[in-house]
Amino acid sequence: MASTMKSEIEKSESNNTMGVSIEMLPESLILEVLAKVASESVVDFNNVKVCSQKFKKFTTEENNLLKIVSFEDYPKILWEPTKHALAIIKRCEESGNPDVLFCKGLREYFNYPNGNIDGLEKLKIAAESGHKLAKYVYGLIMLSSENNESMQEGIEHIRFLKMAKCVMHTRNKIDEITKKYLFIYYNGMFVRRQTRVCKSKPCKGWGLRRGKWIMMNDEDDDLSYCEYCRWDHELEIFYQIFRVR
Ligand SMILES: [Zn+2]
Repeated sequence: MASTMKSEIEKSESNNTMGVSIEMLPESLILEVLAKVASESVVDFNNVKVCSQKFKKFTTEENNLLKIVSFEDYPKILWEPTKHALAIIKRCEESGNPDVLFCKGLREYFNYPNGNIDGLEKLKIAAESGHKLAKYVYGLIMLSSENNESMQEGIEHIRFLKMAKCVMHTRNKIDEITKKYLFIYYNGMFVRRQTRVCKSKPCKGWGLRRGKWIMMNDEDDDLSYCEYCRWDHELEIFYQIFRVR
């Protein structure tokens, strides 16, 4: 009897503490806390809703939160979703979440045998929001065009990665994703450039270094050589990853 009473009191105290402390917080503070959780991990974001009714409401309805949910540490959830994850992913996509747009865009555009041009639009939105993997893929697809405007648009995205010293790191992540989850077959959605990006013949900015010097990591990717030659080099690797003939 005594122990039953004690546990009832403990239960009531614990409910009280949880209820009062979270539910009484101002909404702006709750949103701030949830934004921090969302931007760090989709798993924590999904789990936090059991803490309070308010958390549950915001995590399922607040578009600004769904937009910033990060799948970075849990790529399997995004690329091989369970039924439960699919529901979250769908809400995130509707909110314009760049991780989800990148995943969907890549799948649709490189779908074999029929790619979907809408996929490119999703990649574009993700790239423009600052998503690095999307910047790499969308940037190089645009750069593969002979159209000067598209080419310049592509260069802006990959130049951003180069300035941030993460071209190779980003490329490695894409390579890993395609091997693990996509199994790319070339579907003809975009074609190989017929001309070099660098029009200088021969170009001393790159030629002098070729053969003597290898880029091992992003620290080697310095700014002193010809940028256009650098992109010709990157395009070749990009074509290999996406099996462009
Ligand atoms: Zn050059």
